[in-house]
Amino acid sequence: MPKINENNIPLQKITANFLTQKKIELYVLREDLIHPEISGNKWRKLKYNLQEAKCKGFNQLLTFGGAYSNHIAATAAAGPDFGFKTIGIIRGDEISPLNATLQLAQGNGMIFKYISREQYRANNKYETTFIKELEKEYGQFYLVPEGGSNTLAVKGCTEIINNIKIDYDVICCACGTGGTLTGIIASVNNDKRVLGFSALKGGSFLEKDIRKLLFDYSVQYDCNIENMNWELITDYHLGGFAKIKPELIGFIREFKENHNVVLDFIYTGKMLFGLYDMIKNSSQFDNKTIIVVHTGGIQGNKGFEDRLNIAI
Ligand SMILES: *Cc1c(COP(=O)(O)O)cnc(C)c1O
Repeated sequence: MPKINENNIPLQKITANFLTQKKIELYVLREDLIHPEISGNKWRKLKYNLQEAKCKGFNQLLTFGGAYSNHIAATAAAGPDFGFKTIGIIRGDEISPLNATLQLAQGNGMIFKYISREQYRANNKYETTFIKELEKEYGQFYLVPEGGSNTLAVKGCTEIINNIKIDYDVICCACGTGGTLTGIIASVNNDKRVLGFSALKGGSFLEKDIRKLLFDYSVQYDCNIENMNWELITDYHLGGFAKIKPELIGFIREFKENHNVVLDFIYTGKMLFGLYDMIKNSSQFDNKTIIVVHTGGIQGNKGFEDRLNIAI
């Protein structure tokens, strides 16, 4: 298992004519290089949860996710490295053969339990009766929430900016639950503009979740959140969560060809697609230095490439 590399994350400059014309400097913070399977924000979000679980004497982690979830893959991969057994509660019917994400997770020793979409959606995942049933089945475990977003996860995500050694005006990240964005908002100075690109359709409900995460974080760590200059961009889900349109595939291919950076289909591909569109169609970023956080997720690409019969 390769080691976690969280302190020497390169900032890769992206050069393109349209950026030069607008005097924009664009950098990708390569958090995807932290680890091939526990990549990007999923490491940041797990880090203090793993410490907490160890500290409290647990030897098992249990978490929730969809069949292509980067969080499932990351939690499974963290298991053997950090000395935990892992249990994944997977949304939907059992799939056979397993897709690439679940194969990877199983290879790292994760045990799966499939629950119906209805049961999953009923949103009783953290209800005590359901948890008690799971404890009866598996024994005591440390519960990592779906997508990994809790206050400890936000704390981990406040460390993302530590690797940025240059001055900048704007910082962007992709959003699912908003935990990563919350960590960035909580850590940057208030002269920075923070943009979150929602991977979900109608993602504005996320704003409420982010406010709650910010509040919980500020109470837990007794700190003031200074940065109010954050915004959720909800126009670039490109058909909805994990929906993949041809223009997105084209964009990701071109980005790899031009910059040798692989983006994922669900999050970072759509964020950069959106940012490019905004840069080209407005002047709000002219003369600015922009940092884009590559939150990883590349492990998920294989499953999509297999399913769509394409290669990036
Ligand atoms: C999970 C994930 C996100 C979303 O992170 P949240 O903290 O849930 O908003 C963004 N990018 C990638 C690559 C992810 O895997």
